[in-house]
Amino acid sequence: MALDSSWFTEPVEATGTAFSLKLGEKLHEEQTPYQKIEIFRTETFGYLMSIDGCTMVSTRDNFLYHEMMSHVALNSHPDPQNVVVVGGGDCGTLREVLKHPEVRKATQVEIDERVTRLAEQYFPELCTANNDPRATLFFGDGIQWMKDAAPGSIDLIIIDSTDPVGPAEGLFGKKFYLDCLKALKPNGMLVQQSESPLLHLPLISEMHQTMRVAGFAQTHLFTFPQPLYPSGWWSGSIACKSAGALAERLDASAVQALDAQYYNAAIHRGAFALPNYVAKALA
Ligand code: SAM
Repeated sequence: MALDSSWFTEPVEATGTAFSLKLGEKLHEEQTPYQKIEIFRTETFGYLMSIDGCTMVSTRDNFLYHEMMSHVALNSHPDPQNVVVVGGGDCGTLREVLKHPEVRKATQVEIDERVTRLAEQYFPELCTANNDPRATLFFGDGIQWMKDAAPGSIDLIIIDSTDPVGPAEGLFGKKFYLDCLKALKPNGMLVQQSESPLLHLPLISEMHQTMRVAGFAQTHLFTFPQPLYPSGWWSGSIACKSAGALAERLDASAVQALDAQYYNAAIHRGAFALPNYVAKALA
């Protein structure tokens, strides 16, 4: 059945799939120097932000992505004090990062200031940590920012970007990973949103290979549900500068204090369990 214009649909030609949400109304549309941003009111998912026709964030299900893109890596690092979020302009990841008392400094490097200004208007609940004294909101290209970063200065880099096309393409390349490696402390880590383990496995496998070729000692994949994104099943990839087991900082009271809706210690451990076909592709 074809859907009429009262639905937002994100068709993905390459995978022959589409995701739809029943709409209320379109509230905003603008073409920035980087991308086209639209805001809709949906019938059941709250507000929806799309960029270049791709779903980015909804009121109802963003907690899955934001909690998993921050807490899994933060609790896998022995002592994350200096954290950089590349992209993430809706500020939801930054908010989760700043729930960790051990984080002393968190810098968000978003190329498009309009994403953040619209998030402040339509997703104010994601922007509640923007005035935290530990937070810096920098607007500019994450690729250039990382090139200029002080060597050996960062504990954790979180790449919360759009898909690997347009301004985000370079964030999935070897040159960028080399700059990240240089900017990380010896025990530093990077975590990057890495698309769907069902639809994009070759991309994930290539990403892990590129990270290792760039010089990361080891890579790990974790997965989580995300209804808004193609296939509804998404992943994050962790790359570690040094070899060794990931830390597991899952002290019950510290995890409880995160006040998360999805993330907990069992979810943390379970997220690294990979289906056979995925493990085989990454071996
Ligand atoms: N989680 C979402 C997803 O997977 O679709 C992405 C959310 S977040 C809104 C993605 C952000 O990455 C966008 O706001 C975009 O402007 C930003 N971005 C893309 N390329 C970038 C770059 N080179 N440097 C900094 N930010 C970038």
